[in-house]
Amino acid sequence: MRLSVVIPCFNEEHGIDRLHVVLAEVLPGVSEDFEVLLVDDGSQDGTLPALRRLASADPRFRYLALSRNFGKEAAMLAGLSQATGDVVAIMDADLQHPPQLLAGMVALLGQGHDQVVARRTRSGEPTVRRLLSRLYYRMINKVVDVELEDGVGDFRVLSRRAVRALLSLGEYNRFSKGLFAWIGFDTAVVDYDNVQRAAGSSKFTFRKLLNYGIDGVVSFNNKPLRAAIYLGGLVTVLSFAYAAFVLVDSLTRGVDVPGYATLMVGVAGLGGLQLLFLGVLGEYLGRIYYETKRRPHFLVKEASGVADPPVSVPL
Ligand code: UDP
Ligand code: MG
Repeated sequence: MRLSVVIPCFNEEHGIDRLHVVLAEVLPGVSEDFEVLLVDDGSQDGTLPALRRLASADPRFRYLALSRNFGKEAAMLAGLSQATGDVVAIMDADLQHPPQLLAGMVALLGQGHDQVVARRTRSGEPTVRRLLSRLYYRMINKVVDVELEDGVGDFRVLSRRAVRALLSLGEYNRFSKGLFAWIGFDTAVVDYDNVQRAAGSSKFTFRKLLNYGIDGVVSFNNKPLRAAIYLGGLVTVLSFAYAAFVLVDSLTRGVDVPGYATLMVGVAGLGGLQLLFLGVLGEYLGRIYYETKRRPHFLVKEASGVADPPVSVPL
């Protein structure tokens, strides 16, 4: 069995050597025939030179450099598209995904699963973050069509069949957590304890996480649009009822001037609601806009062992 390990790297210069040492020690025990495919996602630090050095020192380590920062989803996709293994693992460059788990995960895959995912506990994380993520997953699973699970991330091992399935999904907006769930197949779960980053700092700020959260809601269903219809309907019914009341009231008791409060509440409330759902509408429209362009998910600048790699590779 040939094993490919895909690793997206963005500004990870301080972690590459350590990663090499650990993987060179662990991977031969998982499979004699393995490759590590490091994808440089447009790093601005010394990551690419480090990858060049690594690839020339150890031919089992290949790299692919993207022309700019396309984001982790695109970097993973680039790696998957170039991986040659029968079994493909995806993991982070910062050793937060313990490579020691790979042996067990690959073994599980051999027992007939097509995906083996590692699920981390959230020990050592701030309570607020833990609660927020718990709340988020509880809510999102009520909305989306696929089952998303807290703690389950991109650390996983895939069969060739599952990789092929993922590569067959050409959509531009990639919410990989949802895509992994969407392709289905038998999935096994392995638990592990949260690990702190080995070097460097996290690239995911609060704002990025918030956007990621919205992606999760919007990528896999059109329920927010449905919500607009329902809420709009409700408000319309209520306003008809209120209009009837005002009509009858002013006919029977005459017109009285006060009403500033009702007016303001109505205007402000409805204004807010309209803007909110205009945003929802725009979100979907924006997605259609990007999808219709049919642009490649990433562009390649450089690849180890290839003098002049094609800039755009088909999935
Ligand atoms: N990463 C990437 N492109 C990006 C952001 C991150 O390839 O635009 C990589 C990063 O190098 C790391 C992995 O994605 O290997 C996870 O990133 P990070 O550790 O910053 O996220 P966290 O563990 O904090 O969720
Ligand atoms: Mg990390």
